[in-house]
Amino acid sequence: MSFNVYNSLSKTKEPFRPLEDGVVRMYNCGPTVYNRQHIGNFRSFLFADTLRRWLEYSGYEVRQVMNITDVGHLLDDQDEGEDKIEAQAKRTQKSPKEIADEYAQMFLEDIAQFGVLEPLARPRATEYIPEMVEMVEGLIAKGNAYQVGGDVYFDVASFPPYGRLSGNRVEDLVAGARIDVNEDKRHPADFALWKSDPRHLMKWETVFGPDGFPGWHIECSAMARKLLGDRIDVHTGGEDNVFPHHECEIAQTECFTGAPFATYWMHAKFLQVDGGKMSKSLGNVYTIDDVKEKGYDPRQLRYALIRGHYRTPLNFTWESMKGAAAELDNLDDLLALLQRAAEGADGDPGAGAELVQEAQAGFEAAMNDDLNVSQALAALLPLRRQALENAFGSEAAKDALAFLERAMAVFGIAREQDAGSDAEIDALVAARTQARADKDWAESDRIRDELAALGIEVKDTAGGATWRRK
Ligand code: AMP
Ligand code: ZN
Repeated sequence: MSFNVYNSLSKTKEPFRPLEDGVVRMYNCGPTVYNRQHIGNFRSFLFADTLRRWLEYSGYEVRQVMNITDVGHLLDDQDEGEDKIEAQAKRTQKSPKEIADEYAQMFLEDIAQFGVLEPLARPRATEYIPEMVEMVEGLIAKGNAYQVGGDVYFDVASFPPYGRLSGNRVEDLVAGARIDVNEDKRHPADFALWKSDPRHLMKWETVFGPDGFPGWHIECSAMARKLLGDRIDVHTGGEDNVFPHHECEIAQTECFTGAPFATYWMHAKFLQVDGGKMSKSLGNVYTIDDVKEKGYDPRQLRYALIRGHYRTPLNFTWESMKGAAAELDNLDDLLALLQRAAEGADGDPGAGAELVQEAQAGFEAAMNDDLNVSQALAALLPLRRQALENAFGSEAAKDALAFLERAMAVFGIAREQDAGSDAEIDALVAARTQARADKDWAESDRIRDELAALGIEVKDTAGGATWRRK
């Protein structure tokens, strides 16, 4: 069965076909590191992680890149206003680099708590300035961009498909509410590829002048191209990235390379809190720590953030958090029930086998339908009913267990994340076997204790050592 994804570009669900058989090139817009990321940001990042996990479950090799924006993201998302990182640096009397390092580190710690898989690369914009300059120069040479003083603007009139992603029409994007009149621009909708400002703290000397810095959009175009190639399969972000960010990325990359950029554009709808936008004045801009303080762990929060469909707005309340934690408890109970049933010896070992097949088929069909996580979770419910009635035979329970563990791994909520991966445990067990062969009993006892601390029980059998999670 094929994977169908909703493509924001065509506004329809399309069968997923990567450019290269078996390989997916995916770029995710990452955080701007000027403050602590909130749980809304993590909804978008966890969507990207779930997508990756689903592609891997489906057998693809995923080459994933998620950037870190550490320069050029201006306060109003357009070409005006202060750089977000510099504004924070000034407020706190630190350097922009200190701010970026501090919040990038915090982001990495948060993402690790959520059990997010490491991408191929987490490029930082400031480390790809030559690649950006190369693209900007190329766009000038091709007549898609023009320089005014030390600034370079993209000429939207030179790219007729501009507006296709967001539905904006260039003729409507006149000087007005969102776009300040800028005398230097040929058209009010033209956007900055490169800006110059001697007061900017982060600045580079380039062919465009001495005090320049990149526009936010060119950063992602350049990093994606450098790390994944001219064309990629999937590009993701939150819904606010559609315009101007992704619209501008498409224009820049496609004019520069002469080829389509990403085949599929996927956007997560915003997380709302208490039915509205998160706002500082309402005191509901929650971070992972705020949720932990209320007694929930990151695994429960992850579950709360992914359990709805990524294209449905999600409303976070403490009541919904409680509900999510209870649902996850049910899944954990199901695991325990299945474990017990798998070890049982009564009755027909195959009892309930068809339910496992149905649950798996339902789960896969739902995930293949544009990552419908809520429906995929619903497909697991019949397993719980059967297990509660104690109606699984041992063989069917083993199959159910194996499937459920894989499904939970797709959601990033597998228990083993707390207790080391299978490969790590295999390595520890092998080291213990070696220590025993060497008659190094102190070492073999030490490893056994380490495994016990991870909740792993090792059994020595005639065929060698085996292990299981307690
Ligand atoms: P930023 O740090 O502002 O660049 O945002 C990082 C990512 O989080 C972007 O992909 C945004 O689209 C996304 N994002 C921001 N706010 C929310 C929200 N409330 N819900 C979901 N995604 C969000
Ligand atoms: Zn981006």
